[in-house]
Amino acid sequence: MEIYADNAATTKISDVAKAAMVECMDASFGNPSSLHSAGQKAAATLAVARQKMAQQLGCSSSEVIFTSGGTESDNQAIFSAAALGEKAGKKHIVSSCAEHHAVLHALHRLEGQGFEVTLLPMPESGVLSPEELEGALREDTCLVTIMMANNEIGTVQPVAEIGSICRAHGVLLHTDAVAAGGYIPIEVDLQKIDMLSLSAHKFHGPKGVGMLYARKGIKVTSLLEGGSQEGGKRAGTENLPGIVGMAPAFEQVCAGMRENAVSLTTLRDRLIEGLSAIPHSVLNGDRLARLPGNVNFCFEGIEGESLLLLLDQKGIRASSGSACTSGSLEPSHVLLAIGRPHEIAHGSLRLTLDHTSTYKEVDYMIEAVSQVVARLREMSPVWRDLLEGKREYVIQ
Ligand SMILES: *Cc1c(COP(=O)(O)O)cnc(C)c1O
Repeated sequence: MEIYADNAATTKISDVAKAAMVECMDASFGNPSSLHSAGQKAAATLAVARQKMAQQLGCSSSEVIFTSGGTESDNQAIFSAAALGEKAGKKHIVSSCAEHHAVLHALHRLEGQGFEVTLLPMPESGVLSPEELEGALREDTCLVTIMMANNEIGTVQPVAEIGSICRAHGVLLHTDAVAAGGYIPIEVDLQKIDMLSLSAHKFHGPKGVGMLYARKGIKVTSLLEGGSQEGGKRAGTENLPGIVGMAPAFEQVCAGMRENAVSLTTLRDRLIEGLSAIPHSVLNGDRLARLPGNVNFCFEGIEGESLLLLLDQKGIRASSGSACTSGSLEPSHVLLAIGRPHEIAHGSLRLTLDHTSTYKEVDYMIEAVSQVVARLREMSPVWRDLLEGKREYVIQ
């Protein structure tokens, strides 16, 4: 059996996205900035895609800026808010220590430029308390940036409550909705979101394209110097095939969201229940306030990397921490943030499902993970120490 269970890293492109891209490359190959008819055709195609994205988000087309993906959108939102803050003499930003590196590293750069950043600690549940966030706001706070859902442990933040708090204090709210997009509802007005990042390859669109929503009236600065594309907010010829692939992919996931959430949640819960039966295992992140397809566990006494390799041999594509952290020796900053000790964080496994996942696959994964964990423990000196009582179990 071959099972792709790493949808939080990237998703398989959908047929509608692929078809739209091929059609676009044939029929709308012009440069949207050109004045001749081929250019105007491309410009019209671009406008249609923009309208589709805006419609799904409940915003206006003029509030959509196409970018190269989640990372660029996060950077642009943060640096734009910082520029506005600096002008107003406000150089304090509130975020959390479980954000994506695209946010954390951008904030780190701002610290080098005299900004002060408060990173809220994460409770073990992985869900922030809005009251605690409110307590961190100051007179000089110019931005709150909190992700809508965590890409590693799948926890969903109370963005609407956070939005109300930010609005009441006159502070801009940016949310990285890259992991949430297409899985949970987004309504920028209702949730009082000022800026929001999305990335197409996380919802069955192509890689290298995304968007930033920026509420009307917020002055967004271009990260790049160049032409006046995207209303002067993002220089460079638009990635038209990418954008044209992203729009129908997003429409499709939004249309199927409610139905998919129900079946995904059932599969997720079955998988959580099955893996919980493994001794000395723990689910990472709140059991309920989590994305419908996200399962993330720590198993005592094993190494995540070995687990991944053995699962890969059994046909299961999974992840340990995020794709960005694997390959480095440091365990996932998110798992550390929710209080998992280093050695436990190293023994983590993330399985992320999509609408094609089945009961059969879930049952196969439960069986395979149980076998592989048992086999790795047999070979583990740490596990032997635990069995012999020379070391205390961290996970009961
Ligand atoms: C994947 C991801 C990003 C980065 O998006 P790219 O399009 O790959 O640059 C940012 N934030 C979150 C939460 C993500 O899951």
